[in-house]
Amino acid sequence: MKPDTTMVNAFDPTRTAGLAPEDRALIQRRGKALGPAYRLFYEEPLHLVRGEGVWLYDAQGNAWLDAYNNVASVGHSHPKVVEAISRQLATLNTHTRYLHEGVVSYAERLLATMPPEMGHMMFTCTGSEANDLALRIARSYTGRQGVIVTRLAYHGLTESVSEFSPSLGGFVQRGARVRLIDAPNALFVPPAEQGAKLAADLAKAIAEMRADGIEPAAFIVDTIFSSDGLYPDPAGFLKPAADLIRAEGGLFIADEVQPGFARTGDRFWGFQRHGITPDIVTMGKPMGNGFPVAGAAIRPEVVAEFGEKARYFNTFGGNPVASAAGMAVLDVIETEGLQQNAREIGAFLKQGLSEIVRGRDDIGDVRGAGLFLAMECVESQSTNKPNARLAGHIVNHLRRNGVLISATGPGANILKIRPPLVLQKPEATRFLEAISAAVAAA
Ligand code: PMP
Repeated sequence: MKPDTTMVNAFDPTRTAGLAPEDRALIQRRGKALGPAYRLFYEEPLHLVRGEGVWLYDAQGNAWLDAYNNVASVGHSHPKVVEAISRQLATLNTHTRYLHEGVVSYAERLLATMPPEMGHMMFTCTGSEANDLALRIARSYTGRQGVIVTRLAYHGLTESVSEFSPSLGGFVQRGARVRLIDAPNALFVPPAEQGAKLAADLAKAIAEMRADGIEPAAFIVDTIFSSDGLYPDPAGFLKPAADLIRAEGGLFIADEVQPGFARTGDRFWGFQRHGITPDIVTMGKPMGNGFPVAGAAIRPEVVAEFGEKARYFNTFGGNPVASAAGMAVLDVIETEGLQQNAREIGAFLKQGLSEIVRGRDDIGDVRGAGLFLAMECVESQSTNKPNARLAGHIVNHLRRNGVLISATGPGANILKIRPPLVLQKPEATRFLEAISAAVAAA
């Protein structure tokens, strides 16, 4: 049976025996107050009260090494970000219909990290909203409706974006104008063929869409394919598909919510690893280190008519506090050299993981770029069949021993390792020791 991708690493609320009475009570109140759609992580949920750097703490003062959360990308509660937000909140917080230096400087600074073709920056509060806006702009610019995404993509939760976020599970219906293609696959497709295969699959999806009377408006991809199972390599494999959608009159939209803001170590943005200049770049998550800041960078010609005829206003998006948070994050990435740190510590982790799994038949692959790594658990290397049980074992063993990661992919068997970018050697070593023990105990 295929795993339910909406339940990967989810706590089973019927299994509260053995939990602390306070946590049991809170789980019950939570279920009652928030309703049935929410999930908690881990066999034993975690009750956190504080975070600092790469560490998270519970009420008893126990520490967990955070090797999962990419939102607090420059470290939990980073003092410079806290200070910037607090100062601006105590000074002025309005919206973007008044002149304010903050949003303009922040947009200029973000655009300076991109190819010169990306001329404008529009702000939202979430990645979902950024993708929703990108889609509206793409449809209005091309006068077309079709959208192509990868088979287990996640792009967000609005009505229109959930229609092309198949990782939400089969219950959330795929839109009639949406077509899915296979994500890259490190175990079944040789690296040198990855780019040609993706482009050929895209060409087929475009032809099938056209046979149904739908023209492609956009091909949208998370440029590191996080929910599909993490496929960073070989750098450059995305280019033939991006070139193809543009040659066919559609737009290439790079969803940078996951790989953006220096996580891959190589480059600041994931699309840059592939030598692409997108039409629209969407971003979010790490952008405000936990403060809701998101947005889209756009080629001017793509948004010209939309801007004139549709206007844009977002009550909270790009407000002075959001801009201060975003600016502080960029400052910290730069002053603390976090892109380089992601590259160096990421390489150290990848090397360490490769050594840990050497000789094990049930780990099919270790891959990653910078501080975004994956380890693929399989039944055996002869079949490479997903092994969700082993992945679940490792995730929960780590959790019991003070280290946080999670799992992803269509088989729920791919360990997702994605620490804050401030992770240093001693903590990385501690992580490797813990995962080594978890693998050995399997
Ligand atoms: N795109 C990608 C690739 C994401 O991973 C996510 C969030 N997991 C989103 C978009 C949506 O972002 P948000 O949760 O801020 O709406």
